[in-house]
Amino acid sequence: MRVVLLGPPGAGKGTQAVKLAEKVGIPQISTGDLFRRNIDKGTELGLEARRYLDAGDLVPSELTNALVDKRLDEPDAAAGFILDGYPRSVDQAEALDRMLDARGIRLDAVLEFRVSEEELFKRLKDRGRADDTEEVIHNRMNVYRDETAPLLEYYDGTVRTVDAVGSPDEVFARALRSLGPEATSLATLAEGQIKQKSQRKSY
Ligand code: ADP
Repeated sequence: MRVVLLGPPGAGKGTQAVKLAEKVGIPQISTGDLFRRNIDKGTELGLEARRYLDAGDLVPSELTNALVDKRLDEPDAAAGFILDGYPRSVDQAEALDRMLDARGIRLDAVLEFRVSEEELFKRLKDRGRADDTEEVIHNRMNVYRDETAPLLEYYDGTVRTVDAVGSPDEVFARALRSLGPEATSLATLAEGQIKQKSQRKSY
């Protein structure tokens, strides 16, 4: 199953991406996490990406697309993936379409996590990540409105909106429901595999 998660910064996409990926047994691919990992490791990509993250600007699509293209070739992504934070602009969505076409695959669902702007500010200020200062938050919100929100139209007809106000478990239940029966059967399969593994270990 191949899913894209959309939503403004602070909507809880990251949290839900991890939970959904675990439940359904497919990897979560977060471009924000990939960039932060590269920054921590001091790679060339990290050095290049850092100033954009610090300012809350989008890392140039050339770098971002190449990163995702490579990640999609990892064996664990063959069974499906949950993209969190990518695509973030129409040109990235077009690039993703080309990557999918080249592999003869397509997206199954696009989930939009919806939260009011007032609630978002509150959440982000409480979170306290390095790029969560008021000025940077403002910029990330503007970037979302200008660059990312147009994707809702780009994916018109495929987007399923999830009310992202509530406890993480409540939002998770809604997100899983909106992914439909395929996600539920994958979750049952994944659960079976986890059980088998733990049984094997006990011998
Ligand atoms: P949030 O959703 O809270 O903004 P992320 O971890 O998704 O957090 O992203 C953090 C930062 O990483 C962004 O502000 C941006 O600088 C960079 N980034 C993440 N994904 C992309 C992307 N698809 N294209 C360009 N930059 C990105």
